[in-house]
Amino acid sequence: MNLPVSFVDSARRLLGDVECESFIDALSQPAPVSVRINPLKAREGVLELERVPWASGGYYLGERLTFTFDPLFHAGCYYVQEASSMFVEQVVRRYVTDPVVALDLCAAPGGKTTHLRSTLPEGSLLVANEVIKSRVRVLTENIVKWGHPDVVVTNSDPADFGKLSSFFDVILVDAPCSGEGMFRKDPEAVEAWSLENVEVCWQRQRRIVADVWPSLKPGGVLIYSTCTYNRKEDEENARWMRDELGAELLPVEVPEAWGITGNRLEGEDFPVYRFLPHRTKGEGFFLTAARKPEEAEEDAPPKKRKDKRKEEKGKSAAAGKAHLKMAGEWMSDEAGEYALSADDEGSVWAFPCRYADELDSLRRRLKVVYAGVSVGEVKGRDLIPSHALAMCPALFRKEAFPTEEVDYGQAVAYLRREAVTLSAAAPRGYVLLTYRGVPLGFVKNIGNRSNNLYPQEWRIRSGYTPEEVKTLPL
Ligand code: SAM
Repeated sequence: MNLPVSFVDSARRLLGDVECESFIDALSQPAPVSVRINPLKAREGVLELERVPWASGGYYLGERLTFTFDPLFHAGCYYVQEASSMFVEQVVRRYVTDPVVALDLCAAPGGKTTHLRSTLPEGSLLVANEVIKSRVRVLTENIVKWGHPDVVVTNSDPADFGKLSSFFDVILVDAPCSGEGMFRKDPEAVEAWSLENVEVCWQRQRRIVADVWPSLKPGGVLIYSTCTYNRKEDEENARWMRDELGAELLPVEVPEAWGITGNRLEGEDFPVYRFLPHRTKGEGFFLTAARKPEEAEEDAPPKKRKDKRKEEKGKSAAAGKAHLKMAGEWMSDEAGEYALSADDEGSVWAFPCRYADELDSLRRRLKVVYAGVSVGEVKGRDLIPSHALAMCPALFRKEAFPTEEVDYGQAVAYLRREAVTLSAAAPRGYVLLTYRGVPLGFVKNIGNRSNNLYPQEWRIRSGYTPEEVKTLPL
């Protein structure tokens, strides 16, 4: 790898001559491949593989698999995520014990969002934001496939969050950075790197944190992370949060065997967590957790949560009583805690009743692009079941639809959005396809053929079929 000279110089200053050699050497080794299992869809401990020690459900793979051709990947059974970034889980487990309202501010493509969603205490609401419009689509896709219903996706600038004063208990800022930690995975990151860009990055990171800080509740925790090594974007920004924002930087217990190292700022010993590729099995990563002081702002009196269920239902009734009734029949018993409503575009949604007020507030101030679970699309008198419903084990009553189990070839054809021929015994109408018992999505069987309802924009586009398909043995 052809590393920029000034990057090597700054790594030498950071690590010293001897350690820098091992560091540079590690950058020329292949990056480890890892995945994280979705606890909603696969059993923890199901894989006999080396575990990522700081993340439940995290596993190292010996090689890169043909993920694109694995139906269970598209069904949301696992997420392919670099191991170091899974460390976020340790902060959440240590400091978040009750249900919270959490924000993932820089969320696309959704690695940490899906992980947070699996780690936050049940009953929490997670808002996943991505400022860049073209990246919101992949974020929403990954969230829908993950299948947890208590999520809102927004497409707003960090500055817009300032209007939501003391709204969140937890905020993750996985900041856009100079990407030094991605060098061995992504040659373009090496090309794009420059000292000037490091300057741009640390200043932008401070702006982002300062913008979102007012929306953190006093006593709340902001997790700040980058995938870069330099001190300006890492320790110096952590120190700035401590000195300028009054944050308390929080420790996390880390066994020595994990190889995670700490502060590289001379004369400082506040807690930060560094992942260096010659010491930790993963990519370059930095994390610090900052608690907002209790006295930073007047505590806004907690808003009483009204049960909005009746209200929502009443409002929606005018939008299509029959459709809502149909949607209600597709919902599981657990879905009683969720309000069904129809929007002006003819979509029926399920959203947790206890967070109705929060959703109103978010809608007033941000650009909300997805909230809860899309249950169906109205088409005349019909309601077409949404793909998102099939992806959401908690709300979906599988028995509401006839099911056809498909083999590997049919599953891939379905995911390519090709025609799938069902057995002669399959009833007409909406049929749920499953692969190895896991819901893949819907088709509409019209007898001699079936209409494929897999979302057009998510289909497998590659016409190529690998000679050897290697999938995760879930
Ligand atoms: N958290 C993501 C994950 O784990 O999959 C990765 C996030 S990536 C490190 C940083 C994200 O910040 C990108 O999605 C990028 O589009 C977004 N971003 C870029 N500029 C931004 C800005 N000025 N404010 C907020 N987010 C920004």
